[in-house]
Amino acid sequence: MSYQHQYLDGSPLNLPTGKVICVGRNFAEHAAELNNPIPTEPMLFIKPSTSVVDMSKPFFVPRDYGVVHFETEMSILIGETLKHASPIQAKSAIIGVGLGLDLTLRELQDQLKAKGHPWEKSKGFDGSCPLSRFVSLDEVEDLQTLDIRLWVNGELRQQGNSSQMLNQVLPLISYCSEFFTLEPGDVVLTGTPAGVGPISADDKLCVELDKLLSITTQAV
Ligand code: ZN
Repeated sequence: MSYQHQYLDGSPLNLPTGKVICVGRNFAEHAAELNNPIPTEPMLFIKPSTSVVDMSKPFFVPRDYGVVHFETEMSILIGETLKHASPIQAKSAIIGVGLGLDLTLRELQDQLKAKGHPWEKSKGFDGSCPLSRFVSLDEVEDLQTLDIRLWVNGELRQQGNSSQMLNQVLPLISYCSEFFTLEPGDVVLTGTPAGVGPISADDKLCVELDKLLSITTQAV
């Protein structure tokens, strides 16, 4: 089933599905829970367009490579090409804001990290990036005051606020554009708050972005 970026009301956005640029350890408490140091500059990695699926539909969790973790993150949809962009240019290129799950094969990632190998297989596999629909940026008063919450089977597991980001959204996008040209349809995932944990088939998830967005979905 092919994925298409959509506005909150379900109307399709006329944008391709691009790459997803992610930032690791953008919340201090999350870095601490995995015993990782806080990076001195943004730690970036990319999920390919083939990792993207629709979060509102049941999404597949791999069985064969050890524990899969959920990471709930605010997502930013880019609508214009950005290269060496200033934070102001970054803001004008944002089409919408939503939520993404940065699904992670945690055991595989730990093995790859221990060997000093790239961790792409653990982060960029097919279906590793369920994305929500997008709220238009006009509806968002302040990108850096939004609550991010995840319930798994009715239990609140992640709760953070975008004010806690070590790299705020606009400087982060500007930084990303120094290395990777951002193209219309690309998405930036802005890092997970603390509380990450395992997810498996049949888990029911509810994610919320403040009062803007609420989605109930299921792992299969
Ligand atoms: Zn993440």
